Amino acid sequence: MTDSKAKASLNFQQNTVAVRTGIESDTQHHAVVPPIYLSTNYAFPAFGDVPKYDYTRSGNPNRSLLEEALSELEGGEGAVVTNCGTAALNLLVSAYLSPDDLIVAPNDCYGGTYRLFNSRAVKGDFKVLFIDPSDDKAMQNALALKPKLILLETPSNPLVRVTDIEKVCTQAKQVGAMVAVDNTFLTPIYQKPLELGADFVIHSTTKYINGHSDVIGGVIIAAQKEKAEELAWWGNCIGSTGTPFDSYLTLRGIRTLGARMRVHEENANAVLAYLQQSSMVSVIYHPSLPDHKGHEIAKKQQKGFGSMLSFEFNGSQAQLETFVGQLQLFSLAESLGGVESLICHPASMTHRAMDDKAQQEAGIKPTLLRLSIGLEDYRDLIADLKQAFNTVQEES
Ligand SMILES: *Cc1c(COP(=O)(O)O)cnc(C)c1O
Repeated sequence: MTDSKAKASLNFQQNTVAVRTGIESDTQHHAVVPPIYLSTNYAFPAFGDVPKYDYTRSGNPNRSLLEEALSELEGGEGAVVTNCGTAALNLLVSAYLSPDDLIVAPNDCYGGTYRLFNSRAVKGDFKVLFIDPSDDKAMQNALALKPKLILLETPSNPLVRVTDIEKVCTQAKQVGAMVAVDNTFLTPIYQKPLELGADFVIHSTTKYINGHSDVIGGVIIAAQKEKAEELAWWGNCIGSTGTPFDSYLTLRGIRTLGARMRVHEENANAVLAYLQQSSMVSVIYHPSLPDHKGHEIAKKQQKGFGSMLSFEFNGSQAQLETFVGQLQLFSLAESLGGVESLICHPASMTHRAMDDKAQQEAGIKPTLLRLSIGLEDYRDLIADLKQAFNTVQEES
């Protein structure tokens, strides 16, 4: 082997980072794709000589590569890959909240996030206040209580409400609150909360980041190195870190993230255009629509509008059930962000952990249906929706 010259250090675009992280990093056999290290433990080179990796809960090469990719894509100073998105949220509150501390969270956040914060608050681990973060007055009142942490989820689930991240971050700084943004719906391809002033970004990598509905995973990325180190310490302490195999698969998923997000959105736009002229649809929720509350903020802080959308079904409960049952290309399933299209009835599925009152406050009606638009040919997706609506109309 000849000595190669030191290479210039280039600053790559996001898609390049997503494709290339870890490629050709194997020093043993020069494998182009980094190998997977399933070993739970690593030998000490000599007595008292602690290696970079010693035990997989604390660290693993595959997890490190995934953390590097996600941190770089979000513009952070470090990340902790967790065994699910919920574990990332739990890691955040475990690391930073004591019984007297308050966390402010959206009243229409992911159902599992609501359950986690609510249950731990009932136990007395910390205090929680659920508000509509896009309501200025509600946010002002919440900030007056001097919260330690504010969680934003924008666009939110399932109503894709948009919150002005930069504005909340500025207000939060004035009262010394930290801001975490759940960026699961858009990924760093379409939104970068750390650039808007957030302290942390959280993902359920189960969704778009892995993108193939075959890994449960999560991540928390910190804007400051010191915070990333604190989270890594706590992640090891409470045992919330992700496994090597899941990290390997998720990094493989990330390599196509930019390409997938583009097609997801193209397909979503085509489906939206179809839904807008259907008499079986009364209201459509998607940040791209000019009459959607938060459309202007979305244009300002997002590079794309994403492919999650919801709509109110214009018909009876029985008709709604017929419609869902007739669909062939939209699987009736929870989760989102995979290559396959999905339909979900939030009231009876993802958000069933909320009682009726909480659902009402969050605006989740029994007629609400949520679509995760996948990567099938959009002409087939539209034809499928059309035939299912037709069946409902023929029956009535
Ligand atoms: C799925 C999801 C979570 C929870 O992630 P898990 O990987 O299921 O634990 C959190 N936030 C959002 C927005 C989600 O969609």
